[in-house]
Amino acid sequence: LAKGLGKGGWQRYQSDLHTAMVQRLEMRTQLIEAIEGEQFVLQYQPIVELADQRITGVEALVRWQHPARGLLGPFHFVEAAEESGAIVGIGTWVLREALRQFAVWKAEDPSSTLRYVSVNVSPRQFRSPDFADVVRQALADTGARPEWLLLEITESLVLRDAEKVLADLKALRALGVRVAIDDFGTGYSSLSYLRQMPVDVLKLDKSFIDDILHSRQQHALVDTIITLAGNLDLAVVAEGIEESGQHAALDTMGCQYGQGYLFAKPLWPADIPARTQAASELAVLS
Ligand code: C2E
Ligand code: MG
Ligand code: MG
Ligand code: MG
Repeated sequence: LAKGLGKGGWQRYQSDLHTAMVQRLEMRTQLIEAIEGEQFVLQYQPIVELADQRITGVEALVRWQHPARGLLGPFHFVEAAEESGAIVGIGTWVLREALRQFAVWKAEDPSSTLRYVSVNVSPRQFRSPDFADVVRQALADTGARPEWLLLEITESLVLRDAEKVLADLKALRALGVRVAIDDFGTGYSSLSYLRQMPVDVLKLDKSFIDDILHSRQQHALVDTIITLAGNLDLAVVAEGIEESGQHAALDTMGCQYGQGYLFAKPLWPADIPARTQAASELAVLS
Protein backbone atom coordinates (compact mmCIF):
# COMPACT_ATOMS: atom_id res chain seq x y z
CA LEU A 1 0.00 0.00 0.00
CA ALA A 2 2.57 2.57 1.15
CA LYS A 3 4.97 1.73 -1.70
CA GLY A 4 2.88 3.32 -4.41
CA LEU A 5 2.33 6.53 -2.48
CA GLY A 6 5.66 8.31 -3.08
CA LYS A 7 7.30 10.39 -0.42
CA GLY A 8 4.58 13.02 0.10
CA GLY A 9 1.88 10.36 -0.04
CA TRP A 10 3.62 8.29 2.60
CA GLN A 11 3.84 11.25 4.96
CA ARG A 12 0.18 12.05 4.40
CA TYR A 13 -0.67 8.39 5.03
CA GLN A 14 1.32 8.44 8.28
CA SER A 15 -0.34 11.62 9.42
CA ASP A 16 -3.81 10.26 8.56
CA LEU A 17 -3.06 7.18 10.64
CA HIS A 18 -1.90 9.38 13.46
CA THR A 19 -5.04 11.53 13.29
CA ALA A 20 -7.27 8.45 13.30
CA MET A 21 -5.45 7.07 16.33
CA VAL A 22 -5.71 10.34 18.23
CA GLN A 23 -9.42 10.56 17.40
CA ARG A 24 -10.00 7.03 18.67
CA LEU A 25 -8.20 7.79 21.92
CA GLU A 26 -10.16 11.03 22.35
CA MET A 27 -13.40 9.18 21.74
CA ARG A 28 -12.49 6.55 24.30
CA THR A 29 -11.68 9.22 26.90
CA GLN A 30 -14.92 11.06 26.13
CA LEU A 31 -16.97 7.88 26.46
CA ILE A 32 -15.44 7.08 29.83
CA GLU A 33 -16.05 10.65 30.98
CA ALA A 34 -19.61 10.35 29.73
CA ILE A 35 -20.22 7.31 31.95
CA GLU A 36 -18.81 9.13 34.97
CA GLY A 37 -20.68 12.33 34.10
CA GLU A 38 -23.95 10.43 33.65
CA GLN A 39 -24.41 11.72 30.12
CA PHE A 40 -26.18 8.61 28.85
CA VAL A 41 -29.97 8.44 28.77
CA LEU A 42 -32.46 5.77 27.74
CA GLN A 43 -35.47 5.90 25.49
CA TYR A 44 -37.93 3.01 25.42
CA GLN A 45 -39.60 1.67 22.30
CA PRO A 46 -42.82 -0.29 22.81
CA ILE A 47 -43.12 -3.90 21.65
CA VAL A 48 -46.76 -4.73 20.98
CA GLU A 49 -49.00 -7.74 20.67
CA LEU A 50 -49.94 -7.66 16.97
CA ALA A 51 -53.47 -8.92 17.61
CA ASP A 52 -54.57 -5.92 19.72
CA GLN A 53 -51.57 -3.54 19.74
CA ARG A 54 -51.28 -3.78 23.50
CA ILE A 55 -47.80 -2.93 24.74
CA THR A 56 -46.28 -6.06 26.26
CA GLY A 57 -42.69 -4.91 26.57
CA VAL A 58 -40.27 -2.08 25.89
CA GLU A 59 -36.78 -2.07 24.43
CA ALA A 60 -34.26 0.21 26.15
CA LEU A 61 -32.26 2.21 23.59
CA VAL A 62 -29.25 4.24 24.67
CA ARG A 63 -28.58 7.86 23.68
CA TRP A 64 -25.66 10.12 24.54
CA GLN A 65 -26.52 13.58 25.80
CA HIS A 66 -23.28 15.07 24.49
CA PRO A 67 -22.32 18.40 26.11
CA ALA A 68 -21.34 19.97 22.77
CA ARG A 69 -23.01 17.88 20.06
CA GLY A 70 -26.47 17.39 21.56
CA LEU A 71 -28.44 14.13 21.72
CA LEU A 72 -26.58 11.38 19.82
CA GLY A 73 -28.05 8.03 18.77
CA PRO A 74 -26.12 4.74 19.01
CA PHE A 75 -24.98 5.03 15.39
CA HIS A 76 -22.60 7.81 16.49
CA PHE A 77 -20.84 5.97 19.28
CA VAL A 78 -21.72 2.29 19.86
CA GLU A 79 -19.16 0.96 17.38
CA ALA A 80 -16.38 3.13 18.86
CA ALA A 81 -17.47 2.07 22.33
CA GLU A 82 -17.30 -1.58 21.31
CA GLU A 83 -13.82 -1.16 19.82
CA SER A 84 -12.44 0.72 22.81
CA GLY A 85 -14.08 -1.49 25.40
CA ALA A 86 -16.05 1.42 26.89
CA ILE A 87 -19.21 -0.47 25.88
CA VAL A 88 -18.80 -2.74 28.92
CA GLY A 89 -19.23 0.17 31.34
CA ILE A 90 -21.96 1.76 29.24
CA GLY A 91 -23.77 -1.58 28.99
CA THR A 92 -23.67 -2.10 32.74
CA TRP A 93 -25.17 1.35 33.25
CA VAL A 94 -27.90 0.64 30.65
CA LEU A 95 -28.79 -2.67 32.29
CA ARG A 96 -29.04 -1.20 35.79
CA GLU A 97 -30.94 1.90 34.69
CA ALA A 98 -33.44 -0.10 32.60
CA LEU A 99 -34.14 -2.48 35.51
CA ARG A 100 -34.42 0.40 37.98
CA GLN A 101 -36.90 2.20 35.73
CA PHE A 102 -38.88 -0.94 35.03
CA ALA A 103 -39.22 -1.74 38.75
CA VAL A 104 -40.56 1.80 39.29
CA TRP A 105 -43.16 1.35 36.54
CA LYS A 106 -44.29 -1.96 38.03
CA ALA A 107 -44.49 -0.50 41.53
CA GLU A 108 -46.46 2.55 40.39
CA ASP A 109 -48.92 0.50 38.34
CA PRO A 110 -49.11 -3.19 39.28
CA SER A 111 -51.75 -3.80 36.56
CA SER A 112 -49.55 -2.28 33.83
CA THR A 113 -49.59 -4.28 30.58
CA LEU A 114 -45.76 -4.26 30.66
CA ARG A 115 -44.25 -7.70 31.14
CA TYR A 116 -40.59 -7.14 30.34
CA VAL A 117 -37.84 -4.75 29.39
CA SER A 118 -35.51 -5.73 26.58
CA VAL A 119 -31.85 -4.72 26.92
CA ASN A 120 -29.24 -4.86 24.13
CA VAL A 121 -26.02 -6.60 25.09
CA SER A 122 -22.94 -6.05 22.92
CA PRO A 123 -20.66 -8.98 22.06
CA ARG A 124 -17.82 -7.58 24.13
CA GLN A 125 -20.09 -7.00 27.12
CA PHE A 126 -21.52 -10.52 26.88
CA ARG A 127 -18.02 -11.99 26.69
CA SER A 128 -16.71 -10.11 29.72
CA PRO A 129 -15.95 -12.78 32.34
CA ASP A 130 -18.29 -11.46 35.03
CA PHE A 131 -21.32 -10.67 32.87
CA ALA A 132 -23.66 -13.12 34.65
CA ASP A 133 -22.58 -11.62 37.98
CA VAL A 134 -23.28 -8.11 36.72
CA VAL A 135 -26.79 -9.22 35.76
CA ARG A 136 -27.35 -10.95 39.10
CA GLN A 137 -26.15 -7.88 41.00
CA ALA A 138 -28.28 -5.51 38.91
CA LEU A 139 -31.38 -7.61 39.67
CA ALA A 140 -30.56 -7.72 43.37
CA ASP A 141 -29.85 -3.97 43.66
CA THR A 142 -32.96 -2.84 41.76
CA GLY A 143 -35.36 -5.41 43.17
CA ALA A 144 -36.38 -6.30 39.59
CA ARG A 145 -37.61 -9.82 38.97
CA PRO A 146 -35.50 -11.91 36.57
CA GLU A 147 -38.51 -12.63 34.36
CA TRP A 148 -38.84 -8.89 33.72
CA LEU A 149 -35.54 -8.95 31.84
CA LEU A 150 -35.00 -9.97 28.21
CA LEU A 151 -31.41 -9.78 27.00
CA GLU A 152 -30.89 -9.13 23.27
CA ILE A 153 -27.76 -10.69 21.82
CA THR A 154 -26.63 -10.97 18.22
CA GLU A 155 -26.39 -13.98 15.93
CA SER A 156 -22.69 -13.43 15.30
CA LEU A 157 -22.01 -13.83 19.01
CA VAL A 158 -23.78 -17.17 19.10
CA LEU A 159 -21.87 -18.41 16.06
CA ARG A 160 -18.42 -17.76 17.46
CA ASP A 161 -17.25 -19.49 20.65
CA ALA A 162 -20.40 -21.59 20.68
CA GLU A 163 -19.42 -23.64 23.69
CA LYS A 164 -18.57 -20.75 25.99
CA VAL A 165 -21.66 -18.82 24.87
CA LEU A 166 -23.79 -21.88 25.55
CA ALA A 167 -22.46 -22.16 29.10
CA ASP A 168 -23.01 -18.43 29.73
CA LEU A 169 -26.53 -18.56 28.32
CA LYS A 170 -27.32 -21.47 30.63
CA ALA A 171 -26.04 -19.51 33.62
CA LEU A 172 -28.24 -16.56 32.71
CA ARG A 173 -31.27 -18.75 32.10
CA ALA A 174 -30.68 -20.36 35.49
CA LEU A 175 -31.22 -16.90 36.99
CA GLY A 176 -34.62 -16.81 35.28
CA VAL A 177 -33.62 -14.24 32.67
CA ARG A 178 -34.75 -14.71 29.05
CA VAL A 179 -32.69 -14.23 25.91
CA ALA A 180 -33.53 -12.94 22.43
CA ILE A 181 -31.58 -13.09 19.18
CA ASP A 182 -31.60 -9.52 17.83
CA ASP A 183 -31.62 -8.66 14.12
CA PHE A 184 -32.24 -12.30 13.21
CA GLY A 185 -31.56 -13.00 9.55
CA THR A 186 -28.64 -10.60 9.12
CA GLY A 187 -26.10 -13.21 10.21
CA TYR A 188 -25.62 -16.68 8.86
CA SER A 189 -27.14 -18.93 11.46
CA SER A 190 -29.94 -21.34 10.74
CA LEU A 191 -32.98 -21.84 12.89
CA SER A 192 -32.12 -25.48 13.56
CA TYR A 193 -28.68 -24.43 14.75
CA LEU A 194 -30.17 -21.74 16.96
CA ARG A 195 -32.48 -24.27 18.52
CA GLN A 196 -29.48 -25.86 20.19
CA MET A 197 -29.01 -22.56 22.00
CA PRO A 198 -31.16 -21.79 25.01
CA VAL A 199 -32.91 -18.73 23.58
CA ASP A 200 -36.55 -17.71 23.90
CA VAL A 201 -37.22 -15.00 21.35
CA LEU A 202 -36.29 -14.21 17.74
CA LYS A 203 -36.31 -10.60 16.66
CA LEU A 204 -36.77 -10.70 12.91
CA ASP A 205 -34.66 -7.95 11.34
CA LYS A 206 -36.29 -4.93 9.72
CA SER A 207 -34.62 -5.75 6.40
CA PHE A 208 -36.84 -8.85 6.19
CA ILE A 209 -39.99 -6.91 6.98
CA ASP A 210 -39.35 -4.03 4.55
CA ASP A 211 -40.28 -5.97 1.41
CA ILE A 212 -42.97 -8.40 2.49
CA LEU A 213 -45.70 -6.44 0.71
CA HIS A 214 -43.78 -6.11 -2.54
CA SER A 215 -41.81 -9.34 -2.86
CA ARG A 216 -43.50 -12.74 -2.92
CA GLN A 217 -40.19 -14.44 -2.09
CA GLN A 218 -39.62 -12.21 0.91
CA HIS A 219 -43.18 -12.80 2.08
CA ALA A 220 -42.72 -16.57 1.76
CA LEU A 221 -39.40 -16.48 3.59
CA VAL A 222 -40.81 -14.53 6.54
CA ASP A 223 -43.86 -16.81 6.62
CA THR A 224 -41.58 -19.87 6.78
CA ILE A 225 -39.37 -18.42 9.52
CA ILE A 226 -42.43 -17.61 11.64
CA THR A 227 -43.83 -21.12 11.23
CA LEU A 228 -40.49 -22.78 12.01
CA ALA A 229 -39.90 -20.53 15.01
CA GLY A 230 -43.33 -21.46 16.32
CA ASN A 231 -42.54 -25.17 15.94
CA LEU A 232 -39.35 -24.59 17.90
CA ASP A 233 -41.23 -22.75 20.68
CA LEU A 234 -39.54 -19.45 19.93
CA ALA A 235 -41.57 -16.26 20.19
CA VAL A 236 -41.13 -13.89 17.23
CA VAL A 237 -40.93 -10.11 17.30
CA ALA A 238 -41.03 -8.46 13.87
CA GLU A 239 -38.84 -5.34 13.87
CA GLY A 240 -39.29 -2.12 11.93
CA ILE A 241 -43.00 -2.30 11.10
CA GLU A 242 -43.88 1.02 9.45
CA GLU A 243 -47.03 0.28 7.44
CA SER A 244 -50.40 -1.08 8.45
CA GLY A 245 -50.22 -3.51 5.52
CA GLN A 246 -47.10 -5.08 7.04
CA HIS A 247 -48.85 -5.33 10.39
CA ALA A 248 -51.84 -7.11 8.82
CA ALA A 249 -49.65 -9.48 6.78
CA LEU A 250 -47.53 -10.46 9.80
CA ASP A 251 -50.62 -10.96 11.95
CA THR A 252 -52.06 -13.28 9.29
CA MET A 253 -48.79 -15.23 9.18
CA GLY A 254 -49.15 -15.90 12.90
CA CYS A 255 -46.45 -13.53 14.10
CA GLN A 256 -47.38 -12.61 17.65
CA TYR A 257 -45.31 -9.51 18.42
CA GLY A 258 -44.08 -6.42 16.61
CA GLN A 259 -42.10 -3.24 17.03
CA GLY A 260 -41.88 -0.24 14.74
CA TYR A 261 -42.74 3.35 14.01
CA LEU A 262 -46.30 2.31 13.05
CA PHE A 263 -46.96 1.62 16.74
CA ALA A 264 -44.51 3.94 18.47
CA LYS A 265 -41.08 5.50 18.09
CA PRO A 266 -38.62 5.28 20.97
CA LEU A 267 -40.17 7.33 23.81
CA TRP A 268 -38.93 9.16 26.87
CA PRO A 269 -39.67 7.29 30.11
CA ALA A 270 -42.34 9.78 31.21
CA ASP A 271 -44.44 8.89 28.15
CA ILE A 272 -44.63 5.16 28.87
CA PRO A 273 -47.06 4.80 31.83
CA ALA A 274 -50.05 6.43 30.09
CA ARG A 275 -49.70 3.90 27.24
CA THR A 276 -49.40 0.80 29.40
CA GLN A 277 -52.46 1.10 31.59
CA ALA A 278 -54.69 -1.97 31.48
CA ALA A 279 -57.77 -1.51 29.25
CA SER A 280 -60.18 -1.52 32.21
CA GLU A 281 -58.41 1.46 33.75
CA LEU A 282 -58.45 3.33 30.45
CA ALA A 283 -62.19 2.72 30.21
CA VAL A 284 -62.68 4.21 33.68
CA LEU A 285 -60.68 7.28 32.70
CA SER A 286 -62.58 8.00 29.48
P1 C2E B 1 -31.72 -2.62 17.50
O1 C2E B 1 -31.44 -3.26 18.80
O2 C2E B 1 -32.10 -3.50 16.38
O3 C2E B 1 -32.87 -1.55 17.82
C1 C2E B 1 -33.84 -1.16 16.90
C2 C2E B 1 -33.45 0.10 16.19
O4 C2E B 1 -34.34 0.31 15.10
C3 C2E B 1 -33.55 1.37 17.05
O5 C2E B 1 -32.60 2.32 16.56
C4 C2E B 1 -34.96 1.84 16.73
O6 C2E B 1 -35.16 3.22 16.99
C5 C2E B 1 -35.03 1.53 15.26
N1 C2E B 1 -36.40 1.34 14.79
C6 C2E B 1 -37.43 0.79 15.46
N2 C2E B 1 -38.55 0.76 14.71
C7 C2E B 1 -38.21 1.29 13.51
C8 C2E B 1 -38.96 1.55 12.29
O7 C2E B 1 -40.15 1.26 12.16
N3 C2E B 1 -38.25 2.11 11.27
C9 C2E B 1 -36.93 2.43 11.37
N4 C2E B 1 -36.34 2.99 10.32
N5 C2E B 1 -36.22 2.21 12.51
C10 C2E B 1 -36.85 1.65 13.55
P2 C2E B 1 -31.56 3.04 17.51
O8 C2E B 1 -32.18 3.44 18.80
O9 C2E B 1 -30.88 4.08 16.68
O10 C2E B 1 -30.52 1.88 17.84
C11 C2E B 1 -29.71 1.32 16.84
C12 C2E B 1 -28.95 0.13 17.34
O11 C2E B 1 -28.01 0.53 18.34
C13 C2E B 1 -29.81 -0.93 18.01
O12 C2E B 1 -30.45 -1.72 17.04
C14 C2E B 1 -28.76 -1.67 18.80
O13 C2E B 1 -28.08 -2.58 17.99
C15 C2E B 1 -27.82 -0.55 19.21
N6 C2E B 1 -28.13 -0.16 20.60
C16 C2E B 1 -29.10 0.63 21.08
N7 C2E B 1 -29.04 0.73 22.43
C17 C2E B 1 -28.01 -0.06 22.81
C18 C2E B 1 -27.45 -0.41 24.09
O14 C2E B 1 -27.91 0.01 25.17
N8 C2E B 1 -26.37 -1.25 24.08
C19 C2E B 1 -25.86 -1.75 22.91
N9 C2E B 1 -24.81 -2.57 22.98
N10 C2E B 1 -26.37 -1.45 21.70
C20 C2E B 1 -27.43 -0.62 21.65
MG1 MG C 1 -32.25 -4.59 19.95
MG1 MG D 1 -32.98 -5.29 16.56
MG1 MG E 1 -31.69 -3.71 14.23
